Amino acid sequence: MSDCIFCKIANGEIPSHKVYEDECCIAILDVCPVAKGHTLVIPKQHAQDLFALSEEEAAEIMKRVRHVAGLLSDGLKPDGVNLMQNNGAAAGQTVMHFHMHVIPRFAGDDVKINWHMPQADTETLAALCKEITG
Ligand code: 5GP
Ligand code: ZN
Repeated sequence: MSDCIFCKIANGEIPSHKVYEDECCIAILDVCPVAKGHTLVIPKQHAQDLFALSEEEAAEIMKRVRHVAGLLSDGLKPDGVNLMQNNGAAAGQTVMHFHMHVIPRFAGDDVKINWHMPQADTETLAALCKEITG
């Protein structure tokens, strides 16, 4: 897509720090890293979000995510890794080209990926289950 920043990065129009590339995906260092080694795995073919991917494309991308997480683990020796992926502005997606965040985590780091988790009651969960499954 001509006005998409990740398409431009994928085709080399905009420079990036690439840690991995193959026929399917690139993996680049995030320009605003929340942690050392924060990386984005980006399919070369434009797709807005998870729902624009076929099951096969999603599976292929996930293989690269796993590989890149391994590269980061080998290179940076983190104590853990978060995977994050935002779909839609309401979920925090700011670049409308699918990407997966791979975030190395170090014990005691100050990365904040936390949200308020109020305990739900059984009735609420059961009703929700019905709403989702029909
Ligand atoms: P989102 O909020 O859509 O899940 O994440 C978009 C990510 O892309 C953000 O973490 C942001 O820092 C990163 N980003 C946006 N523009 C660029 C860019 O031009 N280069 C790189 N390397 N990362 C970018
Ligand atoms: Zn794009």
